Parts: sequence; C-alpha cells; structure tokens
Amino acid sequence: MEIPRVKVAVIGGSALSGSGFPGEFDGVEVIEDGLEYSTPFGPTAPFTHARLEGVEFLFVPFHGITPKIRNTIPDSASERVFYVLMKAGVKKILGCALCGSTNRLLDPGDVIIPDGFVDYTTRRAQSLTRSLIEKGIQVEPVMYRLHQPFCPELSRLLTEASLEAGFQRVFRRGVVGVSEGPRLESPSEIQIRYTNQGIDVVTMNLIPEVIFAREIGACYATLQLVSNYGEGLVSEEWEGPEVFKEFQERWRRHVAEAILRALRRINPDYEGCGCGKHRWRAIFP
Ligand SMILES: [Zn+2]
Repeated sequence: MEIPRVKVAVIGGSALSGSGFPGEFDGVEVIEDGLEYSTPFGPTAPFTHARLEGVEFLFVPFHGITPKIRNTIPDSASERVFYVLMKAGVKKILGCALCGSTNRLLDPGDVIIPDGFVDYTTRRAQSLTRSLIEKGIQVEPVMYRLHQPFCPELSRLLTEASLEAGFQRVFRRGVVGVSEGPRLESPSEIQIRYTNQGIDVVTMNLIPEVIFAREIGACYATLQLVSNYGEGLVSEEWEGPEVFKEFQERWRRHVAEAILRALRRINPDYEGCGCGKHRWRAIFP
C-alpha cells in the first residue's frame, strides 16, 4: 500500500481512545481508513488518512500499539509509525497522552503542554535511522539537538485550543518523566524519581515520539492530560480502574476537540519556529 504525501500527522494516545476521532467530528473528511502500511519493522497499526479544511493529515491511534505490536524494541510501534511519517514527508506532529501528576499542584483534568522531558525508559528505540541501517536500509544518519524538544508554535496552538475545548487549567510548560511501564509506579518511585527531581507528570508513551519527530525533521507538540495523582502524592485514595475509565470517557471528546482546533490552525509549511534547524548529517554512521 502506497504511503500518501502528507505534511501533518496526529498520534493518538489513551486520552483520545474511543472519542471517534477523526471521522466522527464536523469538518473532517475521511479519505481512507484502516490503512496498514508495510515497513521494514513489519506492518503498522491501521492509519486513517483524512482531510480537515483542505489540509490532509494521517492519524494513528494509541501510538501505533496493538495487541501484536508493542512499544518496545525490536520492531516497536514507534519505529513502524515514524517510518510511515518519514516516507509521507510529515512536518508537523501532534501527540496526546494521559499522565499521572508528580507535582502536588496538579489535579486530574489539568492539561500540560510540556516544554521538557526526562527519559526513564529502558526498552525503547533511540534512533530511527540506526534501526533502519540495522535492517540494511540505506538512509542518511542524522544527529540532532534537543534544546527545544517541543515545537513552541505547535505548543502555542495546543494551549489555545485546549482552553477553547473546555479545559479549565492549561499549563504551557512542564516536565514529563517517561516511564517504561507497563506497570504504574510505587509511591517511593513517584517521590524519589519524579517529584524530587522536579518532574511534573509521568507518562509511558512520549518516548521515542518526541525524538523521532526531530530525527525526521518534523515539529512535535503534545497535550498531556492528568488522569490521576501519582501514587502517594496526595492523601486521596486511588479509586481504581472504574474511576479511571469514567475519567477517560468524560474527557476524550474534549481532547479530540482540542486536537482538531489546533489542526485547523497549523500552517504545514511554517518554519519560523526553527525546529528543523536542529538536525544535521552525522559524521559517524
Ligand atoms: Zn516547530
């Protein structure tokens, strides 16, 4: 199946799952659904190719993870997803995820548009080009800086869009800690590894999206929705999966609305943010 030339992509996460995004929202025209592309890492999760007010975009749900495709190496979900986004020529990527608070000021329902991350994962791919070279695929090895890991322009659009979509508190900066999962953290881990280190929220699926975006020369920003307090952070009892499910169902259409509002304002050719300047051809392969 041929990968279309598209400049914009949305990588869905748990915050968006079950919302009906993108097909069930006004103004979205689905060009084709259920697109499983073949990649050197194996087939992808099903993508949707859609159009919103003349701008085409690709959408893949839940970070490209399925019961058969995991987010861990080898042949991880992100390697597959970003191979497609690279071939499509994608320049702007919006992500989203649910997260736990590790900053005592944050409550469930708060949105963080982060400006920093700390990677605590242990089984994620760290370089798409290196993974491709290991598969015998000829690609130019790249190096890149991460002094501005999240696109300031896309982050600005997401901040405005989140407020308009009905979120009461939207923070335009914050540090995300990325845990390997799939388990949640213990109270000691929340305290020692996250809160004590100045980390605001913890999630499982920002790595390697944020670094792969830079690697393929695309801008990236993400909406992180606090769904629960980090274990032991406040005295409130954790009420388990039922409350979590209710929370997700209550907010998922708001998340979809925020992503759509940001999508409408993206200029796919805008380069003034400077994100594309931070990568270059590596001297050593
Ligand atoms: Zn940018």
